[in-house]
Amino acid sequence: MKIAVARETRDGEARVAMVPELVAKLTGLGYDVLVEPDAGRHALIADEEYAAVGAVLDSGAVEAADVLVSVQPPGTDVVRRLRPGAATVSFLPTGSEPEVVAALRDGGITSFAMELVPRISRAQSMDALSSQALVSGYRCAIVAAGMLRRFFPLNMTAAGTVPPAEVVVLGAGVAGLQAIATAKRLGAVVKAYDVRAAAAEEIRSMGAQAIDLELDTLEGAGGYAREMTEERAALQMERLAPYVAAADALITTAAVPGRQAPLLVTSAMVEQMKPGSVVVDLAAETGGNVEGAVAGEVVRIGNAQVWGGQNVPSQMPGPASRLYAQNIVNIVTLMTGEAGFAPDFEDEIVAGSCVTHDGAIRHEPTRLALE
Ligand code: NAD
Repeated sequence: MKIAVARETRDGEARVAMVPELVAKLTGLGYDVLVEPDAGRHALIADEEYAAVGAVLDSGAVEAADVLVSVQPPGTDVVRRLRPGAATVSFLPTGSEPEVVAALRDGGITSFAMELVPRISRAQSMDALSSQALVSGYRCAIVAAGMLRRFFPLNMTAAGTVPPAEVVVLGAGVAGLQAIATAKRLGAVVKAYDVRAAAAEEIRSMGAQAIDLELDTLEGAGGYAREMTEERAALQMERLAPYVAAADALITTAAVPGRQAPLLVTSAMVEQMKPGSVVVDLAAETGGNVEGAVAGEVVRIGNAQVWGGQNVPSQMPGPASRLYAQNIVNIVTLMTGEAGFAPDFEDEIVAGSCVTHDGAIRHEPTRLALE
């Protein structure tokens, strides 16, 4: 059976779904690994590196594939080149890709969405949302440190003492905790806030101060956050305002599954920040936690430079690809039996992540939205 590694074609995508170090894991499962030429180029991986570990460079990899792996969803043009009965494994945001989902269904393709992998303990090694959030969180802290024209750490020198920077992180999920850990390692004083009850302890375990706004916590299904009511949002903003005003760097990473990112910080709040302060909004692409932030751009609001994240994992394509490829190896391993690729639809991870199979949309919310 053949696994093909796609060359990503979407604008700005620099990652690749498989790295040479992990090709042997797939060949060990009995697969022939085909790689589209130049697939790793933007992640700084040369074709020769794949060839050296036994993969075959093949411009007809898509047509030959039993399983096509990619980071971004395959475009409709790629889907039409797959043979009926083939499978795809990729990120597949079904809400924003209805045409791709329809093409996968109509082409008789079995498709799996990495963002639908259930977040249960057994699936942790396949959790690409977490692996990519780890990269994003690190990158956010580094961007903030790079933009801020002062030290993160305290410096005690013969010439005097320079106080540390104060970093405020809003949203302490996977990305936020990584941003906290990175800012701490760089020596900043870090304060953080999240609506989930468990978050305060996690923030403290990173050595940061958990901001207590004396508001009720918002636990939703599966340990995720719930959406805020308008009143709760207004109160949260009012109580966060002094922390935002005092921050040298503000990093926002808040998200609510299936919803636009919550607006946490108004431009009026940013206008209260000191000259030279920086804001990094990881959620800019999904609506923004900070009013006025623009994905892929740095804009000025009051005294602050506001950086809006856009495909942030792709800004560190080597490690992001390595982690994603490991997630892919783990999920493909789960779906491989004696006779090759044979997903067991009784398995909660397989069933949960399947979008289309056998000419039908299997993912119920997507089916209801599209049919
Ligand atoms: P996410 O990307 O959906 O959200 C990021 C953070 O934003 C979350 O911590 C959320 O609570 C926070 N947030 C939402 N609204 C907010 C608001 N109004 N103000 C402040 N913060 C707000 O979440 P995530 O990082 O993917 O993960 C969140 C949870 O899932 C965590 O509890 C994490 O430990 C858990 N998780 C479990 C697994 C697993 O078991 N396999 C894997 C990953 C994450």
